[in-house]
Amino acid sequence: MHFEPNEEQKMLRDTIRQFAESEVAPLVEEHERAGKFPRELIDRMWKELGLGGMLASEPYGIDLDPISYTLVIEELARVWPSLAIIVSVHNSVSVQLINQHGSEEQKAKYLPELTEEWVGAFSLSEPGAGSDAGALRTTAKRDGDFYILNGEKNWVTNGLAANVYVVFAKTDPDAGNRGITAFIVDRDTPGMKVEKPERKLGIK
Ligand SMILES: Cc1cc2nc3c(=O)[nH]c(=O)nc-3n(C[C@H](O)[C@H](O)[C@H](O)COP(=O)(O)OP(=O)(O)OC[C@H]3O[C@@H](n4cnc5c(N)ncnc54)[C@H](O)[C@@H]3O)c2cc1C
Repeated sequence: MHFEPNEEQKMLRDTIRQFAESEVAPLVEEHERAGKFPRELIDRMWKELGLGGMLASEPYGIDLDPISYTLVIEELARVWPSLAIIVSVHNSVSVQLINQHGSEEQKAKYLPELTEEWVGAFSLSEPGAGSDAGALRTTAKRDGDFYILNGEKNWVTNGLAANVYVVFAKTDPDAGNRGITAFIVDRDTPGMKVEKPERKLGIK
């Protein structure tokens, strides 16, 4: 595979580098000291630069190729590593999962919000299930037209700020790793509780 960026990719890299140096760098210290989530900055990055939909297909996002996407994340990480993780988790394991595996109805409902305004999160890990993700204990039981999810998740990047979470739960405990399903869970779902921030080496 050829990894050398082409002219278009270099232009994108330079645009993001300029944005990161002029608009992001001045915010880092204040936000890190206060442990503050950069909501206003994210809003600008989604609306002005399209960075909320880097891995969503048209008409929802800009569907960047892997090298361009990596260059964007690299340029953000160069100035503010924690911001790069916020943006990468939102795009790669929230937006991209819904874009690739969601139904047309789910895509039409969530992708316009996620690419324009919302922040997404990915919720697989649990206190007793990290590397061995198949050991997760959260269950999802069908109840008419709904599923009732029960369990506890941790280490959720963007957890405090997200509007929507891709949550993994066991739908068929007898089927082992094959009995796990991903659900899109809105933050305001009744019974959903977002608790304390985790201290994850400065990552939000
Ligand atoms: C900054 C940060 C952000 C994160 N963001 C998210 C997120 O957004 N969503 C999410 O779901 N999770 C997230 N995580 C959780 C992350 O995916 C888990 O920390 C990871 O899966 C490891 O799980 P664990 O911490 O429980 O460690 P464990 O699984 O308990 O592993 C501890 C140690 O044991 C080793 N080990 C484990 N099993 C074996 C084995 N079978 N054989 C040999 N060695 C083994 C591991 O390599 C490791 O060194 C995040 C974690 C961090 C640090």
